[in-house]
Amino acid sequence: MLDAYRGELTRFHEALAREEYEHYSGRKETLELEPIYDRYGHLFTREAIEALRREREAIPESFETSRRALDLLIADATERALEMSVHSLTEQIARAEAEAEILWDKVTLTFYQAKQRLATEPNPRRRRELQAQCTEVIRRTNELRLERWRQLHRAARGFGYANSRALYQAVRARDFEVLGHQWARFLEETDELYRAHLHDALMSELGLRPAEADRADIPAFFHLERYADVFPRDGLRAIYEEVWQGLGLEVDRQENIEVDDEERPRKHPRAFCVPIRIPEEIKLVIAPNGGVPDYQALLHEAGHAQHYAWTSAALLPEFKYSGDRAVSESYAFLFESLLREPRWLDEALHFLASEHFLKLMWVHRLFLLRRYAARCEYEQLLHATDEPEALASEYAERLTRATGFRHGPEEFLSDVDDGFYAADYWRAWVAEVWLRDHVKTRFGHRWWRHPRAGRFLIELWETGERYTVEELIRQIDAGDPSIEPLVDEVRAALGRRRRRG
Ligand SMILES: [Zn+2]
Repeated sequence: MLDAYRGELTRFHEALAREEYEHYSGRKETLELEPIYDRYGHLFTREAIEALRREREAIPESFETSRRALDLLIADATERALEMSVHSLTEQIARAEAEAEILWDKVTLTFYQAKQRLATEPNPRRRRELQAQCTEVIRRTNELRLERWRQLHRAARGFGYANSRALYQAVRARDFEVLGHQWARFLEETDELYRAHLHDALMSELGLRPAEADRADIPAFFHLERYADVFPRDGLRAIYEEVWQGLGLEVDRQENIEVDDEERPRKHPRAFCVPIRIPEEIKLVIAPNGGVPDYQALLHEAGHAQHYAWTSAALLPEFKYSGDRAVSESYAFLFESLLREPRWLDEALHFLASEHFLKLMWVHRLFLLRRYAARCEYEQLLHATDEPEALASEYAERLTRATGFRHGPEEFLSDVDDGFYAADYWRAWVAEVWLRDHVKTRFGHRWWRHPRAGRFLIELWETGERYTVEELIRQIDAGDPSIEPLVDEVRAALGRRRRRG
């Protein structure tokens, strides 16, 4: 039974990934999930999951790998069952967003174009007007989102869990108590440092006082218009090749990664990676607009692409497609970190980064870490409630407090990824500091110039998603990843400062 199940599961992943790639790369107008779930839905029924559970119980305790494999199959099937139960609502929400029109300067923009425009609009008043129109699009879909959320809860209960938080705790073995302590501590310990630096960065980059900072300003805050020339749109491809060359990987001979940098009108505006068949067919899609966020996205997605491309073909499909998502995210974050390395900026971009620029990079990082810590705290409540609408103001308060940018309540469901993905990002951030520290200790501070570092990473990548990110860190460093290094490096980079303003 299991061999047949694994074969079907692999074909399901391939079909779903191919559909997503075709749609988001702008080759295909609609995203059609229904035929895929019709064809493969039998893999994710309660009966199918019960059968997997019986298989797992029959495995002797000493067969750790086989038991782990079954655990992952069960986790994947349970999450897919939840997705499947709401797919028509998912499609309706996607359609509503895709069809939304925003009139701006006598031109009709799509919802995504309007969000892009926010990054380059220099006038704060106009940013707020444009944001208000985007928020209105979200507000109009909130009834559908509420219904979708309630349905997800019903599905979780149908599987015998009290709520979806309990479900993730059980099927993905997440320790929300430990994580909850980490989120609270991180927010508390970095609060003063963040506020002092946010004050300076807002003044210098946007001419705003902290009390004026609004959610509408976030894209412009990240875009860093004054450095746009350093990060040109036509330089992305060369950077991709340069990064891997330094590590001894010749990307032009990697036939399993296809870089799609063609321009298409409906192409998603940010880079993304789709592993259609791991490791045989990986797509890295670039939609170059230029600027710091685009370079960051490219390095991030390129890290995913290499991980999938080097994953051993011999692994069971659940160790390629269904494992710990934080593993691949930690490799992606490792390559993103190059943008905070003055020596890399000089070598790759011929940019002698000023102290000012580097501080901005660290303030951005701290913003993201704090935003996710707050989002995770909020989502933990959301996953455990039957009345999500009562938490909208909680969302606004927590996000405002953590980021220093005023948030309204409207995005309380749209700013949430399925599967408690935010917690996996968080775990990946915690692990990545350990991984980076290890790579630097072994291969030097310019680790990205050492083919031996490349070979070390390939050895890790070959294990696909066989281990959790915490297990990987324990293997290379013999320690349990704690958040100390994450806090320490932000302090070291930004320095302790007195509170101002
Ligand atoms: Zn990622």
